[in-house]
Formats: sequence, structure tokens, C-alpha cells
Amino acid sequence: MVRPVDTEAKRYIRMTLGDLQEWFVLYGNCFKCDHVGYIDRYRLVHRFGAKQRMKPLEAKLFCKRCGNRHFNGFAVAPMQR
Ligand SMILES: [Zn+2]
Repeated sequence: MVRPVDTEAKRYIRMTLGDLQEWFVLYGNCFKCDHVGYIDRYRLVHRFGAKQRMKPLEAKLFCKRCGNRHFNGFAVAPMQR
């Protein structure tokens, strides 16, 4: 039996840049100082391709405020009008 939370986590791990719906904006969240910075998803697609999984990219995130490169994560939010 699979608990819903496991399925959700697995889906996220397998998620690619191309899977992200167009009305979602991508952010990076700093583990250390909690800074949230906007990430241009189309630049990521251009650079890594739409088939690139998001999870491995988290390791490349780096905080513009404190310079932390560890344990950072992506966050998504619906586009604001
Ligand atoms: Zn930071």
C-alpha cells in the first residue's frame, strides 16, 4: 500500500522542467537564510532541456543573498496577475 504523501514525493522527484504547468512560477528557496528568489524557468529549459528532471537541479541552486549552495530547493507558485 502506498500512502498519498509517498506518491506525491515520487511524482515530484520524477518531475521534469517540461512537466511544470505554464501558470506556475518557479522559485528557489534557500535552506540557510530562507531567501526566496525568482528563477526563470524558460532559461532552465533552454539550458538543460524540457526533459531535465528538476530534482538534480536543486543541487545547482545557489542563494543570491547569502551564497549558500546546500540543501536549497525549488518552490512553485501560481502566477500573480
Ligand atoms: Zn541564503
